[in-house]
Amino acid sequence: MDTNKALTVLQRYFGYSSFRPGQQKAVESLLGGRDTLAVMPTGAGKSLAYQIPALLREGLTLVISPLISLMKDQVDALSQMGVPAAFINSTLSPQEAAERFRQVRTGECKLLYLAPERLENESFLRLLTQVDISFLAVDEAHCVSQWGHDFRPSYLQIGPFIRTLPERPVLGAFTATATEEVKKDIVHLLGLREPQVLVTGFDRPNLNFTVLRGENKREFVLSQVRAKQGMPGIIYAATRKEVDRITDVLRLKGIAAAKYHAGLNDTERGESQDDFLFDRKEVMVATNAFGMGIDKSNVRYVIHYNMPKNMESYYQEAGRAGRDGEPAECVLLFGPEDVQTQRYLIEQTAFGPRQDRELDKLQHMVDYCHTDRCLRQWILRYFGEEDAPESCNNCSNCDDRRETVDITVETQKILSCVYRLRGRFGATLVADVLKGAATKKIRELNLDKLSTYKIMPKTSTQEIKDLISYLIAENYLRLAGGQYPVVQLAPKALPVLKGKEEVWQRRLPQPEKLESGAPDLFECLRRLRMELARVEKVPPYLIFADSTLREMAEAGPLERSHLLRITGVGEKKLAKYGDVFLAEIRRFREQLDSEGSAGRNLGKRDRDG
Ligand code: ADP
Ligand code: MG
Repeated sequence: MDTNKALTVLQRYFGYSSFRPGQQKAVESLLGGRDTLAVMPTGAGKSLAYQIPALLREGLTLVISPLISLMKDQVDALSQMGVPAAFINSTLSPQEAAERFRQVRTGECKLLYLAPERLENESFLRLLTQVDISFLAVDEAHCVSQWGHDFRPSYLQIGPFIRTLPERPVLGAFTATATEEVKKDIVHLLGLREPQVLVTGFDRPNLNFTVLRGENKREFVLSQVRAKQGMPGIIYAATRKEVDRITDVLRLKGIAAAKYHAGLNDTERGESQDDFLFDRKEVMVATNAFGMGIDKSNVRYVIHYNMPKNMESYYQEAGRAGRDGEPAECVLLFGPEDVQTQRYLIEQTAFGPRQDRELDKLQHMVDYCHTDRCLRQWILRYFGEEDAPESCNNCSNCDDRRETVDITVETQKILSCVYRLRGRFGATLVADVLKGAATKKIRELNLDKLSTYKIMPKTSTQEIKDLISYLIAENYLRLAGGQYPVVQLAPKALPVLKGKEEVWQRRLPQPEKLESGAPDLFECLRRLRMELARVEKVPPYLIFADSTLREMAEAGPLERSHLLRITGVGEKKLAKYGDVFLAEIRRFREQLDSEGSAGRNLGKRDRDG
């Protein structure tokens, strides 16, 4: 009964015909009046799990959400679909806030978004006691826990706030973080009563996972970004400096890249974020400061330029790809120096048992980067899904397109050079010696007299350095020492030096460039969407998601009733955009017909009918 109503609302407002795994249970539990903690991976669709109950329940729903900068986007998205929602935060004038409060009191507004800091404002709280709050949803609920990675002290206000309300609302808490400590903290600190705890499977089947070790990161990023031209992607790097550097490299190559890190001011960050959300810039280069609450659904790839500190962070960041359910890629570029960076950061910020725990998590992250097993299985087991299948055929370990190259001879040259240098120098100097560079340092130290001097004259210094990184990543060599690490032999080097073992490297074939043939219907619809978005000043994906446009392009509907059947087209959007999109489809089909190549890009259904 409730479920049917929920499905009607889902179709009517959001244009979706079915729930995703986990959503329905959460919706039912909340509609049944039960406190609920829903743990669902990034991109699984947590917002709907509270928006639908909010629309169906009597009274007002408060949504506590951490990021003021995104509240407007979220509320705009809802208004696009005809959902009566508003936000109140510090960016509003007192008049605007008063007007919204009026709408709340009259019931014109069903969902009110707030930043947790609002709950520290006395006069605001007094206003809230005048309305019937029947449901309180806490998004990104892990922010309440100090164990989580995004602790927000003002989340601690939520529990006490609820206790001041005349009628206790139903509580819903939503997060993608599933660790026991965090779950316990959420229940305890928010004061959930006998909550229904729902943990949705963590698998994201449309995401392809790849780990590459000892790759030339810069080259890799350039070639990937080029191959994926026109598709939005995120590149995560560990430090601000690295973000600046990568952005510069991309911009110099003519690629429109935005950047985001804590060193930029609010305005710069806001602009950057909008450039990316509005598809004005296709690549976002960022530290982990970017992303929470961003629900841009058409991110097609996430590249980690550096290894993050733990699997929780990794999966959350990588999970920002492919929220629309379309195929997307997640690539992690492992470099041995990343381990040192992360270890250093942990040692600077965590102490005692907490430090041990974080170092332990870091080790799991390193293990992920080295496992031969199915990466998806590895991830799912890490998050507690013991029965994850052995292979997925959609990760770099299951489906290895790389060719294997024998690098035994090069390896022997490098290892013996490191041996001759007695492990006292860094990778650059080792590479210079092998290459035969005539630098001052080499002359002063008499290294040009070594038998391994200039034994790789034909290989570029960068390639030699890449090989050294690879050998470190594979534990033939190791890095030692703090700020200026030196390269030393590891135990695995001996059998290779003695000629008893071979070394093979998997190398990635050059990514294929997308063919850019005649514009297809999808492209036309995308352009139309871009124009509409510009006029309305909203991000394009708020009009229709990529997946919706793709389905439209495949079905090529000519009538409103057919258009309504497309996933992501609800009544409101049909009324608003239906005619322009139908006109564009019609125009495209007529043009095709007149060219005599009818239906080349159209799906079967409408063509035959
Ligand atoms: P989360 O907060 O869990 O990371 P979101 O709530 O931002 O995820 O949803 C991710 C994307 O999935 C959004 O683009 C949303 O429109 C889409 N989505 C959610 N539920 C469904 C559904 N039942 N069918 C199709 N798409 C959905
Ligand atoms: Mg969310």
